[in-house]
Amino acid sequence: MIGANSMKSMVTDYLDEVLEDVRPGDRGAPASYIPEPANVDPDKFGVSLATIDGKVYGSGDTETEFTIQSIAKPFVYALALEDRGFRDVLKRVSVEPSGEAFNELSLDEEGRPLNPMINAGALTTHSLVGGDDWTQGQCLQRIIDGLSAFAGRRLQVDERVCGSELDHAHRNLSIAHMLRSYDIFPQDPRVIVEGYTRFCSLLVSTRDLSSMAATLANKGINPITGEKVVSGRVVRQVLSVMTTCGMYDAAGDWVTQVGIPAKSGVAGGLIGALPGQIGVATFSPRLDEHGNSVRGVRLFERMSRDMGIHLMEVPPSVQTVIRNTAVLVQDLTDDEKARG
Ligand code: GLN
Repeated sequence: MIGANSMKSMVTDYLDEVLEDVRPGDRGAPASYIPEPANVDPDKFGVSLATIDGKVYGSGDTETEFTIQSIAKPFVYALALEDRGFRDVLKRVSVEPSGEAFNELSLDEEGRPLNPMINAGALTTHSLVGGDDWTQGQCLQRIIDGLSAFAGRRLQVDERVCGSELDHAHRNLSIAHMLRSYDIFPQDPRVIVEGYTRFCSLLVSTRDLSSMAATLANKGINPITGEKVVSGRVVRQVLSVMTTCGMYDAAGDWVTQVGIPAKSGVAGGLIGALPGQIGVATFSPRLDEHGNSVRGVRLFERMSRDMGIHLMEVPPSVQTVIRNTAVLVQDLTDDEKARG
């Protein structure tokens, strides 16, 4: 029988071990489309894992804050579904993988953004949060409150990043004007881009993100605070779309190699949610050509292999995921002993 304390140290030992294995190399570069994220320390690296029974484990830079960026998109989608219902949201945003970059100017044959994980889709889901008679301020507050409930603490906007993004928001403004011209939403496109940019600039740590992911893994109930944030039906929709569209045009590679619903952001964050089990979050700012964190992807690949969490494998119970990790650490330690 493994006690709670030794379990904690075993899981933490395992996370320490994989973090150090994945750390070498400096492939990729932090996002440079605005001056602010380019100023981050590219060597920051952390991982947090939250279970659906409310335990959080971590290694490395788990308290470092960075902007959430596109990782906000699945949560804003969840709030839009919750507020407007499936019919209204699906009328405006489809659920098809785009195979395109996140900031592509594209619509499907019915004039809808292809999915809520690309910018065109997220600007639209933002326009749907709240009700028709809500002010923009109320809608944005609803999003910040909602994302904070997923995280289990009050999140703050990084005003410097937000200002810098707004000064360089030409691409998102052009997408929003395109959406407005197709009557996808009635609001002023500049107001929608401003709101979108503010929620993309919310500061989070891997600890926060693991709790957000674990809330998705736990049918919409934050396992740490116990708060019900969205319904189970909404979560199923969000996790499905994350599976097919969460990693942009690398979604196919991700599903085959890692096999769990995920979402990345340009600041270097990455989350994965294994339904009924765990939420995992990594942070490392160097990005690959798709805009996904290089070390984050490697870390998830390694954890998926070690812990057997690929969705297409027979799902282990939460105890097994954690226990496998502990056993694995034991094996690694035994190996080391054998090697002297
Ligand atoms: N704020 C970024 C943008 O809209 C977010 C994109 C991302 O994280 N992929 O361009």
